[in-house]
Amino acid sequence: MSFLKGKTALVTGSTSGIGLGVALTLARQGASVVLNGFGDAEGPKSEVAAAGRAHGAKVGYHGADMSKPAEIEAMMAYAAAEFGGVDVLVNNAGIQHVANVEDFPAAKWDAIIAINLSSAFHTTRLAIPSMRAKGWGRIINIASTHGLVASAGKSAYVAAKHGIVGFTKAVALETATTGITVNAICPGWVLTPLVQKQIDDRATRDGIPVAQAEKDLLGEKQPSLQFTTPEQLGELAVFLCSDAAKNVKGQAWAMDGGWTAQ
Ligand code: NAD
Repeated sequence: MSFLKGKTALVTGSTSGIGLGVALTLARQGASVVLNGFGDAEGPKSEVAAAGRAHGAKVGYHGADMSKPAEIEAMMAYAAAEFGGVDVLVNNAGIQHVANVEDFPAAKWDAIIAINLSSAFHTTRLAIPSMRAKGWGRIINIASTHGLVASAGKSAYVAAKHGIVGFTKAVALETATTGITVNAICPGWVLTPLVQKQIDDRATRDGIPVAQAEKDLLGEKQPSLQFTTPEQLGELAVFLCSDAAKNVKGQAWAMDGGWTAQ
């Protein structure tokens, strides 16, 4: 299958975790991919290049900091110059910080809102003109179950994720009569570095082994007692890119082992 051959996907925060899983899955469908994120970029670049090689897909990387609008503008200019624009935009970069609101560091609040929410505004406003001109586009916002329900200790994250679900709906309406779709994916627990830190913190807090902390974390929220994988989320993104999904607009689609069914 290579139905994304000739298209370019830009996935923010794709040097790790869910973003990397989505980038790999899109490359397997033939999409050229622009990666973004901190840390080692060479490893992810060669993995994604290998995934798309059979289709002749190109891979690029831009290290823009998603909390800085000027750097986001530079990244979108790079994608336009090197790849002819972005056809599939996956707003995925995100961070977490857990503390009750009265103890929440103000700088962490600002960073979470900037990276998890405002960055999607900047990439989207810059991507839409060329999507409109081409008459086709897919915007996929990686929100969270925390875009639909809340947990204590995560006020900034929950605010940002509820915000991105609302943003998704508004932009879906603005583009409803075009070939652009805008949707959110709402994962429950996925075992990535972002969640591993919460498991490790829990083990320390409760004085229990990490394996037990992992079981407790799942048992508290996710009825399937299984993590969703980045690849499964990638396959949902592939579906949203397909023709079959062209009338799916403004949805927040959970893949959460039953978390939000409760
Ligand atoms: P992760 O920590 O594995 O990956 C985060 C990625 O974002 C990394 O590539 C990192 O370099 C990048 N990043 C962080 N700050 C950045 C910045 N300022 N500029 C550019 N890139 C930056 O985390 P993950 O679990 O894969 O999370 C990815 C997304 O999925 C986030 O939006 C997160 O909120 C969401 N999510 C995760 C889970 C989960 O259980 N892991 C569940 C629901 C939603």
